[in-house]
Amino acid sequence: MTTEQIAAHINPWEVAQHQFDLAADKLNLDPGLRRVLRQPRRELTVHFPVKMDDGSVQVFTGHRVQHNLGRGPSKGGIRYHQDVTLDEVKALAMWMTWKCAVVGIPFGGGKGGVVVDPKKLSSKELEALTRRFATEIEVLIGPERDIPAPDVNTNAQVMAWMMDTYSMHAGHTVPGVVTGKPISLGGSEGRNEATARGTVFCIVHAARELGLDLSDTTIAIQGFGNAGSIAARLISEEGATVVAVSDSTGGIHNPEGLDIARVVAWKKEHGTVQGFPGATDVSNSAVLEVNCDILIPAALENQITSRNAARIRARVVAEAANGPTTPDADQELYRRGVFMIPDILCNAGGVTVSYFEWVQDLNRDHWSEEVVNEKLREIMTRAFAETLAMAKREECDMRTAAYLLAVQRVADATSIRGLYP
Ligand code: NAD
Repeated sequence: MTTEQIAAHINPWEVAQHQFDLAADKLNLDPGLRRVLRQPRRELTVHFPVKMDDGSVQVFTGHRVQHNLGRGPSKGGIRYHQDVTLDEVKALAMWMTWKCAVVGIPFGGGKGGVVVDPKKLSSKELEALTRRFATEIEVLIGPERDIPAPDVNTNAQVMAWMMDTYSMHAGHTVPGVVTGKPISLGGSEGRNEATARGTVFCIVHAARELGLDLSDTTIAIQGFGNAGSIAARLISEEGATVVAVSDSTGGIHNPEGLDIARVVAWKKEHGTVQGFPGATDVSNSAVLEVNCDILIPAALENQITSRNAARIRARVVAEAANGPTTPDADQELYRRGVFMIPDILCNAGGVTVSYFEWVQDLNRDHWSEEVVNEKLREIMTRAFAETLAMAKREECDMRTAAYLLAVQRVADATSIRGLYP
């Protein structure tokens, strides 16, 4: 089986609940609270029509899930992908709850997705799908209630259409309803790079902890979109050598290092990283297993599983993607001494700058990129240090440590608010 076929057989919602159960056991969480936090608060599924360019009407399915609102409005991206399922969106929403708590920003967790391969739609069809989906989930979203952002296959343009649709219905401009918008519409400086920048801050701290010199370090990256391609650029700027990258079409490898600016230009021109001059074309799974010091999964869930964990050669795994490692693989990597920077910490830079964007929108303010990056650095540095301290105190891996911090914070907020009515 390929990594894609294996991934399709593992249910991310079961993984997310299992990870939560481990933390709840370790925290000895009150059984009632445990039952509450183990389920999403709200799940909405919509089936909605879109008129296609050929005049036909197609019906698409989408979901919006709010996992927990204890610490604030729910926050989380919108994914467009042919394999989106309700269980995947539920898992991603739960992970958002823990992520916001790990970095200490006042949001709960939410997520959305539409079952569609957007590469098969024209720009007009994509806009129509986005506007109709935004309308269908308007019963849940709003700047005080639930704030979407970009995720896989969505971007600043999609966020602009969502913001405009919501604003048209409100009768006035509501920039704070989504984040990841274009700068001209109230987007934040630094948001586009934020996920990757947060990942690179974490890698810098991990390298320091492990005594690794980044300028003498090799990197492999799975996924070459917003998170992966920008992480490749930023980690190269730190002096590391990126030796392999992949996208949905396959990977490329050069043990001497890849010129990332040229790979970005190549992908833009050819729609794939494959065929890049001077590199060898390899499969997606091979990119995970190449000889490197640091592996950055930046694509989809369930990529590092019990099937390939033994072949991962990196010393550090930095999860820019959500849910790339299954619990069995986690155990295997921990046993072998691989330092895991878990998704809920490693990719939290995105939601952190989304929070900055929301604060700027509500205050009709605009911060400089220097201010944004400095505030991001402070938050990521503190979250990394708190997670590492917890891992040392509890003698556990970094994922368990991050969950202990996050679940305790959400449990405290939920229990002190009390049970309504
Ligand atoms: P994106 O759509 O910009 O890029 C996704 C990339 O993954 C593309 O290059 C695609 O070709 C590649 N890909 C898909 N399937 C693949 C496979 N099987 N093997 C190799 N590559 C594959 O999406 P993104 O925003 O970069 O999101 C990537 C991951 O990061 C997701 O898990 C997402 O949830 C997570 N994430 C993103 C953000 C954000 O701000 N964009 C924030 C936090 C977490």
